[in-house]
Amino acid sequence: MNVHDSEKMLGILEQHGYAETKDPHSADLIIFNTCSIRQKAEQKFYSELGKARAFKKKTPGMQIAVAGCIAQQEGENIIRKAPFVSFVFGPQNIHMLGNFVSGRIAATALDDNREIEQRDLPVKRTDEVRAWVTIMYGCNNFCSFCIVPYTRGRERSRPAKNILAEVRELAEKGYKEITLLGQNVNSYRSDMNFPGLLRMLDRVGGIERIRYVTSHPRDLSDELIAVIGDLPKVCEHIHLPLQSGSNKILRLMNRGYSFEEYVQKVLKLRDRIPDISITTDIIAGFPGETEDDHILTMDALEKIEFDGIFAFKFSPRRGTNASALENQLPDGITSVRLSQILETQNKITEMKNRLLEGTFQEILIEGEGKTDEKKLTGRTRTNKIVNIPWSDTAKGTLIFVEIIKGKQHSLEGRLSAQDQRE
Ligand code: SAM
Ligand code: SF4
Repeated sequence: MNVHDSEKMLGILEQHGYAETKDPHSADLIIFNTCSIRQKAEQKFYSELGKARAFKKKTPGMQIAVAGCIAQQEGENIIRKAPFVSFVFGPQNIHMLGNFVSGRIAATALDDNREIEQRDLPVKRTDEVRAWVTIMYGCNNFCSFCIVPYTRGRERSRPAKNILAEVRELAEKGYKEITLLGQNVNSYRSDMNFPGLLRMLDRVGGIERIRYVTSHPRDLSDELIAVIGDLPKVCEHIHLPLQSGSNKILRLMNRGYSFEEYVQKVLKLRDRIPDISITTDIIAGFPGETEDDHILTMDALEKIEFDGIFAFKFSPRRGTNASALENQLPDGITSVRLSQILETQNKITEMKNRLLEGTFQEILIEGEGKTDEKKLTGRTRTNKIVNIPWSDTAKGTLIFVEIIKGKQHSLEGRLSAQDQRE
């Protein structure tokens, strides 16, 4: 979501005559698009801001701006603490960027933007094959650990006709894959619901793959499961954040489902779409988490066998209910639990990847390998990275490959005899 917000900022700046530079010393404007989901992201921002101050000293006239969730939370404090910052705007005020750079407004834009969903911003995309498409803004869930509802505001769904127009335009430009973005896409509601939106977008010619993030387990309906199974372009992958295997902790987190209800949804998904890959988010060391609660989370990993997880140490965020709970755990305990979670999952991920050895998978070519430029890289419909020997295959091509090795973080493949789709 933040990466896509940056693409919107680039789109606005381009309209105002700016061009991107990779060299910060030559920049007229540096914008930090910040994240405050965890303390670590915040710390990183403050250390980068210090470096930017040195650039500004060497380049008179350079402007430095702060955007994103830290900007929303800290507002004018940022300028007070760092007077070399020219302006500050939150995630609901990206549209104000044009006014800032043309000198038409003061130093902050942090208002609750009530019509955010009606405003289509220009986007300068950083990829030519895969594109992000915003379908909703904000969040109403108030999970007790999470800062998002405070920084991104209330949930609002973008009109379906605007989404359709954007996706058609992407198809015309040659994009093959779209990822629909929202904090809880399952609660999308305009003149249609999320399954309706998927049905509509599945008919757009030229788009080959449709993905979406993130699905909230509480709102994953039978209708949606059926639609994922039925629609040819909707990929067989769902990111379904569990957070914890303990019902006591799920209640404290205000997640709105029990572990048993979560498992029921996983069973339904696997029953309807047998080859679906399921990934999740886990938080280690939530306040009040006992060793028994932690073991329940470890058991959940073994029982569900996710294809992959993102696991985080709990990070208290100012103003959230969880930050005020008793029994905040020391970092030592949380760190041990996080490593145990990762170690357990790593074995499961590798085991699942190895099960794919000998199978044939359709991959969408994304370009040269990240670590080895003699390889091409692509992704399966289930969102697994596959590296294949380099060949003259253009970015955006769909080919079939045979998986020859399943590894920890990726798969190795080779072109198969079935690589030409009829
Ligand atoms: N809206 C998505 C959902 O509910 O599934 C998640 C959005 S959040 C940006 C991504 C992940 O960050 C969450 O699923 C959670 O695991 C993690 N997260 C959020 N707040 C956190 C906190 N205070 N400490 C640790 N992890 C956190
Ligand atoms: Fe945060 Fe919960 Fe909303 Fe996700 S659903 S953004 S975790 S409050």
